[in-house]
Amino acid sequence: MNAIRSLKGVGEKAEQLFHKLGVETVEELLHYYPRDYEIYDPPEEIGSLVITKIVAVEGVIERTPTAKKIKNLQVVTTSIRDATGSIPVTWYNMVFLQKVLRGGTRCVLRGRLVFKGMQFTLEQPQIFMLADYDALIHVMQPVYTLTKGLSNHAVRKAVSQALEKVEVCQRREYLPADVREKYELAEYNFAIRQIHFPKDMDSFVTARKRLVFEEFFLFLLAIRRLKEANEITRNAYPMEGSEETERFLKSLPFQLTKAQERVWREIQHDLRGEKAMNRLIQGDVGSGKTILAVLALLEVANHGCQGAMMAPTEVLAKQHYESITTWFREYGIEKKVVLLTGSMTAKEKKLACESIASHTSDIIIGTHALIQEKVVYDRLALVITDEQHRFGVNQRELLAEKGEEAVHILVMSATPIPRTLAIILYGDLDISVVDELPANRVPIKNCVVNTSYRPQAYRFIEKEAARGHQIYVICPMVEESESMEAENVEDYADRLRTELSDGITIGVLHGKMRPQQKNSIMEAFEKNEIQVLVSTTVVEVGVNVPNATVMMVENAERFGLAQLHQLRGRVGRGKEQSYCIFVSSTDKKETMERLKILNSSNDGFYIANEDLRLRGPGDLLGIRQSGSMEFSIGDIFSDAAILTDAAEAVSLLAAKDVGLEMEEHAELSRYLKEYMEKRLDRLNL
Ligand code: ADP
Ligand code: MG
Repeated sequence: MNAIRSLKGVGEKAEQLFHKLGVETVEELLHYYPRDYEIYDPPEEIGSLVITKIVAVEGVIERTPTAKKIKNLQVVTTSIRDATGSIPVTWYNMVFLQKVLRGGTRCVLRGRLVFKGMQFTLEQPQIFMLADYDALIHVMQPVYTLTKGLSNHAVRKAVSQALEKVEVCQRREYLPADVREKYELAEYNFAIRQIHFPKDMDSFVTARKRLVFEEFFLFLLAIRRLKEANEITRNAYPMEGSEETERFLKSLPFQLTKAQERVWREIQHDLRGEKAMNRLIQGDVGSGKTILAVLALLEVANHGCQGAMMAPTEVLAKQHYESITTWFREYGIEKKVVLLTGSMTAKEKKLACESIASHTSDIIIGTHALIQEKVVYDRLALVITDEQHRFGVNQRELLAEKGEEAVHILVMSATPIPRTLAIILYGDLDISVVDELPANRVPIKNCVVNTSYRPQAYRFIEKEAARGHQIYVICPMVEESESMEAENVEDYADRLRTELSDGITIGVLHGKMRPQQKNSIMEAFEKNEIQVLVSTTVVEVGVNVPNATVMMVENAERFGLAQLHQLRGRVGRGKEQSYCIFVSSTDKKETMERLKILNSSNDGFYIANEDLRLRGPGDLLGIRQSGSMEFSIGDIFSDAAILTDAAEAVSLLAAKDVGLEMEEHAELSRYLKEYMEKRLDRLNL
């Protein structure tokens, strides 16, 4: 394996930044696929600019830029002129431009055209020399997910060097020839080159298909290997229903929906049965999965055993802990519940671990700490993972291994995948579906708008905040990157601070913050100390703040509808009317129509299917349908047909050579081993 450092131009500093992205070797860099492609259009005439979008213009900078401080922003302005007209240009926090960009310079500016104060302005454009821009026109340029300090240009350069290297050592094809032929898959070296630098749309589609297939194929081979290792286990803790659980169920302030009742019966049936439970509960956001988990935990506790529930974030774990303890307190249930998370102090952790080991605690709620810390359980009979799609494949196994005997396993997921796909992906689990929402919900009001609606949206946000309600604003990315099309959290929050009235507190939340920081922001939001939370999609997972009534999503066109639907699930959780504002930064008719599907239904499953029906393969660029079940290139929704093919190919292969011992599978066998060691754990399913 070649370290990334062996590439020309990748020094120590760049190496560390690549490590942050999870890229350590040249090989891994090649599998670091673009998240999108940019197509640079030729410059447009300034006089004919009419709609707000990303544009390029070519002209002369009219005067050396000047900077002015507005609140806490440095605003740099100038204007650019061509034969047809002139347009103002604005940059934020880029004071150095005063020194480098002189009046009279001829160049191309490419940025977002916005309509402000009754005129068009070009915002935050990138600056190109004419010849440089010419070279970019019409080529699909890869856009990578970046980290601060590493530019898209640097990643592009490293990738093109890596591609030269691979061609030197000619990586051998590892997909069996008959598989490639049957499913019409491109050859490896072609695919890997074309995914980074596609010659045209056709080559991109062909390359992508091969890589998606390969990814699903390896994944399915890997889980098959893992499954062979775990044979079916007998039920070591058979349990008949208990009176206290019945009493708890009766004291709840609501009745279970029909769907919840059915799933609860399935769980009880498993707890009594011959085999240990191995069940997936699938249910849309807000369908009420938590209560089912609580019933199962209580049942286990009533039989003198321990039950543990693992959630993907600290915020969610705490929230579960609080709802359970509140319920138990109100209904006189005397079971002891304990919380264990990574950000607790050493002393708190020690106390929690002691109460688990001595069986003072019956129910344990926590994060990854449940498997990371040295926790010893006593008669652990049930493990639950909430939001399973946020965990690595092996993590639920690790939790299950904490039991002395085979434990009951329950996993919960809100990803609305079709049953056929669920069977492929979770082949080792029985599946229950909570396909009904509680009846008392006030339907959410939605609107799909373009960016010119922002001022109205901000006034609406102020109004809701004045009524004591809270607001989420979602942006797709964390930091400024070379591709300016996406709003990013930090800058957006700065801008909101200038746009919204002063009494409103704005907080920022994103995945790159430390857990402690995230917790304190989330806690402040729960306590209504923050009214407007500007966030990436990290809030998508399970968060429950019923006082939040507005969900505004910027660059909605970048998200799959299934993911937008998950985001929408963060509001409409209380008694108040809630609203979703989906802001699209393009006015394209197809995009608007696609987004409007969200208006027509509240059923995540229907929405995901409609989305697919409307889109063709070229539309896959940069849009992830599932948003959360993250393969590195494949998308279980939009690539469902490839997933089905890969599953078939795996069965055929297993029938022929289950141990991959034949000579012709040697390369595959070696590659699978590498995949299971290095890449499987990074996958969230
Ligand atoms: P999810 O399935 O997304 O995890 P939750 O379990 O968080 O959903 O439930 C969402 C909200 O609905 C919670 O406040 C919960 O108490 C409430 N809830 C659950 N079941 C019912 C029901 N049958 N009737 C009314 N409200 C319910
Ligand atoms: Mg939940």
